[in-house]
Amino acid sequence: MVHSKVVIIGSGPGAHTAAVYLARAELKPVLYEGMLANGTAAGGQLTTTTDVENFPGFPDGVGGAELMDKMRAQSARFGTEIITETISRLDLSEKPFKMWTEWSDGPNDAPARTADAVIIATGANARRLNLPGEEKYWQNGISACAVCDGAVPIFRNKPLYVIGGGDSAAEEAMFLAKYGSHVTVLVRRDKLRASNIMAERLLAHPKCTVRFNTVATEVIGDAKPNGLMSHLRVKDTVTGAEEIVDANGLFYAVGHDPASALVKGQIDLDEEQYIVTKPGTSYTSLEGVFACGDVQDKRYRQAITSAGSGCVAALDTEKYLSELGDVPQPKEKI
Ligand code: FAD
Ligand code: NDP
Repeated sequence: MVHSKVVIIGSGPGAHTAAVYLARAELKPVLYEGMLANGTAAGGQLTTTTDVENFPGFPDGVGGAELMDKMRAQSARFGTEIITETISRLDLSEKPFKMWTEWSDGPNDAPARTADAVIIATGANARRLNLPGEEKYWQNGISACAVCDGAVPIFRNKPLYVIGGGDSAAEEAMFLAKYGSHVTVLVRRDKLRASNIMAERLLAHPKCTVRFNTVATEVIGDAKPNGLMSHLRVKDTVTGAEEIVDANGLFYAVGHDPASALVKGQIDLDEEQYIVTKPGTSYTSLEGVFACGDVQDKRYRQAITSAGSGCVAALDTEKYLSELGDVPQPKEKI
């Protein structure tokens, strides 16, 4: 079993920003980036998108995966130990905190590592709707990631649907419009949640239509061997009218669930399972445990706010460790 002063769990902008600050403060952070943790590649949600246009420092935009590669390289450059494994269990009941991984635990269920401080930066995951037919046609027409799946041949020049009214739905619909014959966005309310600029672009897009007050109620398709979805049953929530429409692709963009299962029952979560942090800080309800990024932020959920909260978590952790007498004299200012 190995002991570290601080372990960061996660690999998005929050985790890597915390790592850069802690590594520069010579606290030798260990970062578990996950091995497809919660179904997302190491690097987090931005690995599932195309261009990021709102992260400062990139006037021409930057690919989401490229941005995360750069953040990872910056963490490593200052000495962060990055481990490509998923933390499967965490025991915060006593100090030092204990953690287990999917592959490399000690004998007799000994933890893989202990730590004086832990930063939870596990992010969030795409939500599913559990529609009738969803299980059958999942990845056979249904996807939660247009960027990952949109270019495959089954969607070329075919009618495609997106469910959701936020920025993801807008972005995914416009991305899919490059491939499909037309993209229809189903919005359950009478308005979009997306930011004004994204909403305007979507509504003006010649290959996208937004249907307000409309929900999907069933995914319909072929039997095997093809086994692909071909139609969608949709319902107007105002009139109650239902119809079956041609649909060869269905993309979910209905928000995210925070990846907080690791700490459930050990620190305070809110009613939507987001980690509760003391406002303006990364302090959780348990001393020595800090949180940053989307797992504790249901309001802003942006790369830059995750990165900002990662900086806060690193500075809070450094202060905590220094009070334990655990911090080396820095050779340079952070
Ligand atoms: P996340 O990005 O959520 O990553 C956390 C990662 O940690 C997980 O994915 C997983 O790899 C790892 N992990 C989880 N659990 C464990 C575990 N137990 N052990 C080890 N590792 C684990 N924001 C913008 O600012 N601009 C945009 O243009 C933009 N576009 C987006 C497009 C899409 C399609 C999506 C889904 C989001 C977009 N966002 C955008 C939002 C942005 O991606 C998130 O706000 C940000 O990535 C959250 O960062 P995070 O640090 O919380 O971690
Ligand atoms: P949001 O939570 O912002 O939006 C989710 C959407 O899905 C809402 O319109 C919601 O409807 C709808 N929805 C939720 N559940 C259902 C359901 N059961 N049936 C039908 N519709 C449903 O999530 P996003 O993923 O869009 O965005 C997350 C964060 O990432 C945001 O902060 C966003 O700004 C950011 N982001 C930024 C981008 C950019 O700046 N380019 C691109 C993508 C994401 P309702 O409104 O009625 O609740």
